[in-house]
Amino acid sequence: MKQHSSHGIFTSLIVIKIVCTQEWNYHELAEDMWPYIYVSCGSTQQSPIDIQTSNTKYSKFETFKFSADYDTLINFTLQNNHYSIRTFDSIQEKLLTLEGGGLPGTFTFRQFHIHWGENIHQGSEHQVNGKKFSGEIHFVYLNFATNQTAVLSFLIEVINNQTLENEIDYNTTSLWHSYIEKALLLNGGNITYFMGNLSEFIPVHNLSKFYRYYNGSLTVPPCSGNVIWTIFNNTIKFLEDDITALHKIITDYNFREIQPLNGRIVSASFRDDQFDTGQILRIKQWILFIYIIIIYFPNY
Ligand SMILES: [Zn+2]
Repeated sequence: MKQHSSHGIFTSLIVIKIVCTQEWNYHELAEDMWPYIYVSCGSTQQSPIDIQTSNTKYSKFETFKFSADYDTLINFTLQNNHYSIRTFDSIQEKLLTLEGGGLPGTFTFRQFHIHWGENIHQGSEHQVNGKKFSGEIHFVYLNFATNQTAVLSFLIEVINNQTLENEIDYNTTSLWHSYIEKALLLNGGNITYFMGNLSEFIPVHNLSKFYRYYNGSLTVPPCSGNVIWTIFNNTIKFLEDDITALHKIITDYNFREIQPLNGRIVSASFRDDQFDTGQILRIKQWILFIYIIIIYFPNY
């Protein structure tokens, strides 16, 4: 009995040692291990998810309201934290607030970072109808009154110079190119600075189409819950060299696999044109009309 007890203490000490000394990563301490170190990572309402567009629920949302400082040049502090490049909190960033879009209250910008894959056919955390994108950018916000986190998420599409559709997309891609160039100079743990407007990092000209779910989590340990996710339909375009350079310098990939939906509802702020119910109704009316013509006027 005594031996059993001391064995238990010994095991507990090992567990405590693991908890205290181990970090997580995407390799030998990959996501299969996370729930054993961070309990929340094994909970039932985790992120990311696969968004099945035919199962989304159409909802009207008011437009997002960004504070005026999104157009102010901000000297972002960038750090290579071995998992990604993330921005740091600064006094200036606290001026960047976000309201509307179905978010409860005022949210304040905290940081942004990128997820990527080993090649351009993977890298996003969220998927749309099982499709993986080349990466995903998370803009993380906090409501200081409720302590709730909200993430604005953009999927990354790799594109070449010739296929950039408009000037705004071109400017956004160019800014991210400069950001990546700077980020690639960082060794693990080091910091540097990058000057930019948040309104140029985000393609603000088209934010009306997005997917929303309220019961998500952080996608990295401690995988805390109660996170509101917004995944925009409009992607951010990256040049292939920019996204692939990241995995050579920082880590080869840093995305979490999709998690079970477990009955959660995903809303869409827009209707897919192909499945517009008004169009389907009009097609049905035409079929009925032609059917009546054929039945009652067979000689025509
Ligand atoms: Zn993230």
